Amino acid sequence: MLVLLSLCVCVLLLGGDAQDRAALWRGNDRSGRCQYTFTVPSPAEASCPQTGGGPEVEGLKARLSLLEVLVARLSGGDTGGPQGAEAAARPGLQEALNRATGERNLLRGEKERLEQELEGLQRRVQEMRRETEILRARPCPPQTPMLPPALPDSGLTRPAGGSNPMSHLMTRPNRQGDSSSLRDSAWQNGSPGFQELKAEVTEVPAPDGSEDSAGCGELVSIGEPVTHRKADNIAGKYGVWMQDPEAVSPYGPEMVWRIDTIGSDVRQLFGYDDMEQLAKGFPSKVLMLPELVESTGATLYRGSLYYQRRRSRSLIRYDLASESTAARRDLPHAGFHGQFPYSWGGYTDIDLSVDERGLWAVYSTNKAKGAIVISQLDPFSLDVKKSWETNIRKNSVANTFMICGRLYAVASYTAPDTVVNYVYDTATSQGKSIAVPFRNKYRYNSMIDYNLAQRKLLAWDNFHMVSYDLRLGRQQPN
Ligand code: CA
Repeated sequence: MLVLLSLCVCVLLLGGDAQDRAALWRGNDRSGRCQYTFTVPSPAEASCPQTGGGPEVEGLKARLSLLEVLVARLSGGDTGGPQGAEAAARPGLQEALNRATGERNLLRGEKERLEQELEGLQRRVQEMRRETEILRARPCPPQTPMLPPALPDSGLTRPAGGSNPMSHLMTRPNRQGDSSSLRDSAWQNGSPGFQELKAEVTEVPAPDGSEDSAGCGELVSIGEPVTHRKADNIAGKYGVWMQDPEAVSPYGPEMVWRIDTIGSDVRQLFGYDDMEQLAKGFPSKVLMLPELVESTGATLYRGSLYYQRRRSRSLIRYDLASESTAARRDLPHAGFHGQFPYSWGGYTDIDLSVDERGLWAVYSTNKAKGAIVISQLDPFSLDVKKSWETNIRKNSVANTFMICGRLYAVASYTAPDTVVNYVYDTATSQGKSIAVPFRNKYRYNSMIDYNLAQRKLLAWDNFHMVSYDLRLGRQQPN
């Protein structure tokens, strides 16, 4: 009974909905004893009919909260709310910041590299501009009209003495009488490629270890340049000066001749009685040539000036005594006006010179593909007597000169200390590398030729007329 009362109290204490639905039953059991039974709805049953906040709603709320947590996690947050999300996001932000900083540093490095590259390009542009200015300063005259055949000079004339005895050094050389047609030694020798010259090659040997100033051996050494005269104006930045090794009256062997070659009207040939008058700048004769002169390749021989007519491959023989053209002839296939110049340019396509063997032309042709061609010329008719083709590019050397039938090539026209780096012997049709020191004192040598009269080199180095002593080896038997 106490149990029953306790149960009732419990039911009453529970109260609420459950209390309303409790039911009490009383009856006899099978043995006739009174049995009390009451039923109370279970909590689960009692919650079912309720609305607005039952366990189901709570469950949904719990599930929603769970989903919110999951969403927060997926969006970078955390279950810890906004502050937790920020804390969780901090490492990501730091990582992004680090990445951005690294990229910024890379960009800075790239910027520095590009700035250095820009500076390099600007330096190259400046160098190219300077080179352009140099090129513009070179003579580039306009096309000139045909000129009258002769333009007598009636001006400054004080005929130089023609009675001076000839030096023993002007003895007529023993010329080869070969009149065969053009010979193409490079192709015959099966050496289609060019020989690339180097400044540093083997020392040139004296043929027998001794020197003979009167001989005609190979070049042994070249002395320091001696300055004789500086040109007065820009017309003389480049030029050619020369002596006639076999002078003809009325001009004597001491006579020195000069042509300034910058300008559009290069036709003045200045004559000086001797080196001293040249040094003083007092010409005794000025001849006006009938055809304009191209570049610095002129030479004198037996009373005639030989030169290339401007913008042509025509060679002119101008007789000094009669002051008129004595012969003219095209040099067959010769390049001209910048087609095959020396390395400094200046339309030095055809270079004429005189040595112990006679009159020479150094040039190139399309057939030779820019290689130096040497032709011996008949000094009277200008016909080609014989030709040799080297395997040296003409535009790879600064200048050439002929001594005793050998062509010598100078490596640089600007380097203060350069070398004669190649010799080609027309007697043997063989060329070889050598290294004879040569000095460009004024850093822009536009003309170098052998002066047979004095057995020296004459050069025109950046306004300056200079000469060089020579030493030749003893002549070898041919
Ligand atoms: Ca020359």
